[in-house]
Amino acid sequence: TASAAAAQAHRPARTRDGVQIEVGANLGGLADATAAAAAGADLAGLVRTEFLFLDRDAAPDVDEQVTAYRALADALGGRRLTLRTLDVGGDKPLPYAPVPPGDNPFLGVRGLRFSLLRPDLFAAQLTAIVRVAHETPVSVLFPMVSTVDELRAAREALDDAVRGIGRGIPAGLRVGAMIEVPAAALKASALAPLVDVFSIGTNDLTQYTLAAARGDGGVASLGDPWDPAVLRLVDVVCRAAGERVTVSVCGEFASAPGAASVLVGLGARELSVVPAQVPGVKQAVRETSVADAATLVADLLTRPGAAEARAAATVRSM
Ligand code: PEP
Ligand code: MG
Repeated sequence: TASAAAAQAHRPARTRDGVQIEVGANLGGLADATAAAAAGADLAGLVRTEFLFLDRDAAPDVDEQVTAYRALADALGGRRLTLRTLDVGGDKPLPYAPVPPGDNPFLGVRGLRFSLLRPDLFAAQLTAIVRVAHETPVSVLFPMVSTVDELRAAREALDDAVRGIGRGIPAGLRVGAMIEVPAAALKASALAPLVDVFSIGTNDLTQYTLAAARGDGGVASLGDPWDPAVLRLVDVVCRAAGERVTVSVCGEFASAPGAASVLVGLGARELSVVPAQVPGVKQAVRETSVADAATLVADLLTRPGAAEARAAATVRSM
């Protein structure tokens, strides 16, 4: 029940068979950080840093970014801060950093592609992130990875930022790749040696897998994260991650009814959701057993469509 969930919101979430699942919050600004701490989030599993860059005439400099990231860390009371590098471009152009105009924003220069075209902006952001990582546990997350070369280039830029600061690698620094392009999911075993975390963005992974744009009402029924094609990609990623790489899921699917159990059964050990959903997702984790969920997902992956997979998962989790 909701009151049971609220009473336990600040405690760690363990499955019935004793596996701890970190339940984080997705943040789009400082108010979300305060809400996340109040809701009992174990960490900030995704900070959409775009909020610092949009609606202005010039990019924030390193000091401004450090101040903003530090404020998030303070509001979170020392919980881990997962800072995703800028995910703009395409449909979210910046006036001070024009990108080649493409016909199809979602398939164009966005996310890490944008950062690799603007090494000046990328270096400033990574420098700010590393500075804050010397003060508090930080994960850096690269969005819209499609190839191993892109991820390698991103890691080199991060290494340059670490060297530039000259204080060594921050003790709590972890590196993650967003898995939100089917090509990245299918190449997860090649990406794994370069990261500590795979963060699956089911919003984009669904749109690219089903070729159904996010927010396009005409194809909304196609763009369903319960589609077994999406679930199979999540399965591929979890298997490629093995024991060493943590799999997190930060798309909206993580808080869909019945989904937490499925994701844990596939192998996710961290879920990140909007702050208000944290208590409910922790409760869903507590009602799950990894062993039972693994049996459930083996069946789900063979279903022909989203409706059948959703029905099978929600009936069993009732
Ligand atoms: C996603 O794609 O699922 C995701 C979490 O990133 P965003 O919604 O910011 O694109
Ligand atoms: Mg995304």
